[in-house]
Amino acid sequence: MSQTNDSTENSDDPCLHCGACCSSFRVSFYWAEADVHAIPVHAMEQLSPFYACMAGTNSNNPRCNALQGTVGKEVNCTLYAHRPSPCREVQVGDDKCTQARARHGLKPVFNTVVSA
Ligand code: SF4
Ligand code: SF4
Repeated sequence: MSQTNDSTENSDDPCLHCGACCSSFRVSFYWAEADVHAIPVHAMEQLSPFYACMAGTNSNNPRCNALQGTVGKEVNCTLYAHRPSPCREVQVGDDKCTQARARHGLKPVFNTVVSA
């Protein structure tokens, strides 16, 4: 989830009606990020001595435990200010976003019109 969803909540923000990237992939990161972003221990799962992931995403049907709401309708990241790098790197309309949305039966955010 790349866009803001805090007190400056904007109903035009597509992420607030999506949440697909929070429920499609294992959201893993270098363990030291936990300190950098002050990620609560209960929100993470340790994968190895050096890597962790957001709890709930190390699954065949991943869904981050920090995600509230219904994917494709109304969602909210309860740890937005503390989210790790994979959440910050995905951008609305990029390949990962489009792949995640397709997994949940959602169209790409931006439709490309190809003219002849
Ligand atoms: S998949 Fe795209 S639109 Fe949906 S929450 Fe993630 S970045 Fe936002
Ligand atoms: S921390 Fe927030 S933005 Fe990152 S996967 Fe979980 S719900 Fe999504």
